[in-house]
Amino acid sequence: MLINVYVEYNRLRNTFTYSCDSHVEVGCRVRVEFNNRTLIGFVEEVDVESDFKNIKPIIEVIDEKPLLNCELKLLADYMADFYASSKVTCYKTMLPPALRPSSNHSKVIYEEYAVLKESNLPLTSRQKEVLTSFTYPCKMSEIRKVSSSIAKALLDKGYIVIEKRIKDSNTHVSSILDVQHELTFEQEHAIETIQSTDKTVSLLHGVTGSGKTEVFLRLAENVLACGKQVLFLVPEIGLTPMMIQRVQARFQQKIAIYHSGLNAQEKLEQYNLVKENKVDIVVGTRSACFMPFSSLGLILMDEEHDSSYKQDNTPRYHTRDIVLFRAAYHKCKVVLASATPSLESYARAYKNVYELIELKHRIHEMPEIQLVDMKKERVTNGLSQTLLQAIYERLSRKEQVILLLNRRGYLPVVRCSDCGHVRICPDCGIALTYHKNQNALVCHCCGRQFPFHEECPSCHSKNYFKAGMGTERLEEQILEIFKDYHVVRMDADSTRRKNAHEKLLKEFEESGDLLIGTQMVAKGLDFERVTLVGILNADATLCRNDYRASETAYEMLEQASGRSGRGTLKGEVLIQTFDPDHFVMQCVKLHDYKLFFNQEMKYRHLGMYPPYVYLCTLVFTHFDINEAYKQANEAKAYFQSIRVLGPIEIRMQQKKRRVRLILKSKDDKLLHTLVKNYLDTTKQIVDVNMHPVMMEE
Ligand code: ADP
Ligand code: ZN
Ligand code: ZN
Repeated sequence: MLINVYVEYNRLRNTFTYSCDSHVEVGCRVRVEFNNRTLIGFVEEVDVESDFKNIKPIIEVIDEKPLLNCELKLLADYMADFYASSKVTCYKTMLPPALRPSSNHSKVIYEEYAVLKESNLPLTSRQKEVLTSFTYPCKMSEIRKVSSSIAKALLDKGYIVIEKRIKDSNTHVSSILDVQHELTFEQEHAIETIQSTDKTVSLLHGVTGSGKTEVFLRLAENVLACGKQVLFLVPEIGLTPMMIQRVQARFQQKIAIYHSGLNAQEKLEQYNLVKENKVDIVVGTRSACFMPFSSLGLILMDEEHDSSYKQDNTPRYHTRDIVLFRAAYHKCKVVLASATPSLESYARAYKNVYELIELKHRIHEMPEIQLVDMKKERVTNGLSQTLLQAIYERLSRKEQVILLLNRRGYLPVVRCSDCGHVRICPDCGIALTYHKNQNALVCHCCGRQFPFHEECPSCHSKNYFKAGMGTERLEEQILEIFKDYHVVRMDADSTRRKNAHEKLLKEFEESGDLLIGTQMVAKGLDFERVTLVGILNADATLCRNDYRASETAYEMLEQASGRSGRGTLKGEVLIQTFDPDHFVMQCVKLHDYKLFFNQEMKYRHLGMYPPYVYLCTLVFTHFDINEAYKQANEAKAYFQSIRVLGPIEIRMQQKKRRVRLILKSKDDKLLHTLVKNYLDTTKQIVDVNMHPVMMEE
């Protein structure tokens, strides 16, 4: 039989024909020879015909059964088409790492289990004794511990056989008690509307602390009661532990958990739980949207605006698109929820495509926002007198404080004060950040580390500017000023180890006074005693060279503010800014999302940016910048019928120069067609980002 196979070259968009003597189904992996290498292939078609001579046989069939069910297969087709990417990258993305069509996938550890079998060969009394002392299936290692020779004899005589099973890793989540509140009128109304609307998608726009989680849990409960499954999506990691705990407290054992903190082994286990229909509810981050559900009844997407829902390598899918596909397949409802919805989603709700539901009231009072004008303040090392005073007051009342500084490390830029030399990453071309802890210079783009030398490599001076501050330095300063207090720092550096997030949050909850962190601390945290949130470099996000800069800034400030005053104690938020009159600052001060929405939509309309148009970016990469520009200009000529911005150079990657085009069109279909046609005709390697969320600088 001849079969068509996708081989694991990410950029290859077509299949190759092989012959296969054994039974194989569409959706199984096979091992094949390709360009003198042994690669893994994904069977796309069986029983095909071909006029080719010299068709090679496959080496072996890997899977007995297809890895993807019918729905997920259709989803892969949709993704490959919509994001203009190769099928094999879609498969890789959709499957847990251990099952990916990839030669160097992460290892999964199997354990040997003994399973009882019938046999009538004679046993010694000691062998009989050992055989009957276990309940089967049991771990082979247990029997071997008693006696390895008896274990061998039992195997040889056929009383037991070995079965390999995935080693248990005991994904552990600490438990909290479930508190079931009596619903407020607004919550009740929200649930009723979501359940009764004939629209597929509801947008739950609820201010921070309005009790969205309770709404989710009740909706989930009702769906579970009908025997259907629930997918509960949360943004990347920061928020995951708290939400998982709350869902687990309510639904106990029937849940699977899926997020990037799990290793390949654990992911496979959770994936199989869903595949074998052993759980009804999955809580997870982005990649959980590919779980093999059999009958989905509801999809909840919390903090739907969060940028971690968009994958930033090929296929650059957005979880929202995948969710809508799956909801259409399962004919189930979707709830998108946020205190700061993405402009796209809110615009759709505004136009009545989505059902708009608003939770306008907080369970407790909203925090008061104060804009601290840094032009008028006495500032020591980035901290205003007003903020320091406020921290002092809260701490002396035994309340808790969160400080947000969206920059990790110690010194963001190491610049020589004599010759101005800045140390940059040779691969990415961006300034290196000094990390005191490791006494190293770290590239925040590619993660490479370089030794730190006191001496300037250019002029040998030992003086460098000590301006600017990252979380590491902020922690050091705060500890100097507030000596007797317990400070917890949470950023990408302090949370690298497994379960570090959970541990740090627990530490803060139990004995912490101050929590310092990057945007990680802006999301989802729910601590009753936090009454002050201080935001240090509020302007930084606004300065980004990105059409979404204002939206991102508004989101971050409003979300961070939402961490203050969530209990009965009144909360306060201090935002340090050089531009208190900026409309984003003013909207945050008033907690007025709609004001922000209306204003921002005007700018988007003027600039012709989403949601008024659809975007796609194309990035061309080459060691020679002129060559990269040449390719980009050729492509630009191809897209004459729509608007094209650029080419402009963006930052390097792996020593290669990169040039970007932005394609704009009001007609999404046309945009897709043009991009696909272009990819079919060009020989260039192009990085396509359909509907980009963040613009690289
Ligand atoms: P959101 O997700 O909207 O930010 P949460 O769901 O975390 O808000 O709720 C905020 C706080 O209010 C939580 O501590 C929660 O336990 C509490 N809460 C939620 N609903 C109620 C209710 N109906 N009555 C009293 N407290 C509630
Ligand atoms: Zn120098
Ligand atoms: Zn780098």
